[in-house]
Amino acid sequence: FVFGHKSPDTDSICSAISLAYLKNKLGVEAKAYALEEPRKEAKFVLDYFKVEAPEVLSAGAIKGQDVALVDHNEVAQTADDIAEANLVEVIDHHKIGCLSTDLPISVRIMPVGCTCTIIYNLFKENNVEIPYEIAGLLLSAILSDTLLFKSPTTTEMDKLACEELSKIANVDMESYAMEM
Ligand code: MN
Ligand code: MN
Repeated sequence: FVFGHKSPDTDSICSAISLAYLKNKLGVEAKAYALEEPRKEAKFVLDYFKVEAPEVLSAGAIKGQDVALVDHNEVAQTADDIAEANLVEVIDHHKIGCLSTDLPISVRIMPVGCTCTIIYNLFKENNVEIPYEIAGLLLSAILSDTLLFKSPTTTEMDKLACEELSKIANVDMESYAMEM
């Protein structure tokens, strides 16, 4: 179960879908979920790249299941029944909150502009090819979170990722970001 925060923005939706895709490519069964219906911009992005919205997580579904959190790590922002799940991984770009676990877990938190920038680098590290629609989702989230690189949280890593992703997704960043 891979999911982002409540009131899912573009990064929460796109990072969940992209990480689930990567996990499956690496032989780990994974599925993206959303805690609620995606916000308007995220819906636009899904429509644009013709990707289905993640299923909204139903109450009790994660009980005893392996869970990976993306784009958040704070208890208040996650599934209400997170304590009943088996948290195995966190990939995020926010400050560390107060989630605690019983067992050691895999954590990747970096001070970059977007969770999708970290996931882009995970594709690279694992030598997994990024297909058109995943490139589109990753790019959209980075453009959204960094406000087209105008946000002070923007890093060189975000820009480098977008350079390649915009080519795979075949979009002009400026005009696409405005449309988005
Ligand atoms: Mn977010
Ligand atoms: Mn984010």
